Amino acid sequence: MVQSDIEFTYCLTVEETNTLVANDVYSGQCDGDEDCVMLLMDGLLNFSKEFLPDQRGGRMDAPLVMSSRIDPSEIDDEAHNVDIVREYPKELYEASREMADPEAVEELIQIGEDTLGTDDEYHGFDHTHDTTDIAMGPDLSAYKTLGDMMEKMDAQLELARKLRAVDETDVAERVIEYHFLPDIIGNLRAFSRQETRCLDCGEKYRRMPLTGECRECGGRVNLTVHEGSVSKYVDTAIEVAERFDCRPYTKQRLKVLDQSLESIFEDDTNKQSGIADFM
Ligand SMILES: [Zn+2]
Repeated sequence: MVQSDIEFTYCLTVEETNTLVANDVYSGQCDGDEDCVMLLMDGLLNFSKEFLPDQRGGRMDAPLVMSSRIDPSEIDDEAHNVDIVREYPKELYEASREMADPEAVEELIQIGEDTLGTDDEYHGFDHTHDTTDIAMGPDLSAYKTLGDMMEKMDAQLELARKLRAVDETDVAERVIEYHFLPDIIGNLRAFSRQETRCLDCGEKYRRMPLTGECRECGGRVNLTVHEGSVSKYVDTAIEVAERFDCRPYTKQRLKVLDQSLESIFEDDTNKQSGIADFM
């Protein structure tokens, strides 16, 4: 259990059932397949705008709009990129032994996208393995059982090392380029354009009041984006780049980024210089 910096807010995991009843509100933890069902139930049975916090985060992930009709052309392509066959053909396994390029065997497996615009649109979706229980998957994913980001990275890259078809340097390169870099750059930008907010009443200020106190209630005014959320992954990213021998270009991008973080966050108020610094 982790207690947050806001009073009486808890983030907890209930062992075995993953279910909690508090103040007559029933809350079930779920992920993956269960999510869509639970979110729909929430929308139909349990949902009230009264439950939404009126402060930070408030409506961010709340299901406020319900669609009764889905237009396949309007939804994310990713959702159609799922195979809908009952079994994989022998040719697929044979091609995998030859280390064939995935694009070369594309037509062997039908995916959801293939049905779009045909008479069978969204029909005949099948699966390879049956289940009797929607909640049969792991109760806690590896994302939660593993510790910090470094541990998660290690687990993923360890898997990449074991798979003959996977080039682990390429995996490391992609994780850095598509996850770490955009995350750090985005957070750095957010840090420099952030608002400040009163911890007690939630009043927002575009600039920190000179007194440091809230003009509405006298409470403590604080940053909304913290240093930790900006620089938390930069060391991990640098270490991964070193360990997996990423391209010099990637390493240099990280180095430049690390320098800009340092120039913003390093406390340079009280630095004593020796005479040697001027020689
Ligand atoms: Zn206030």
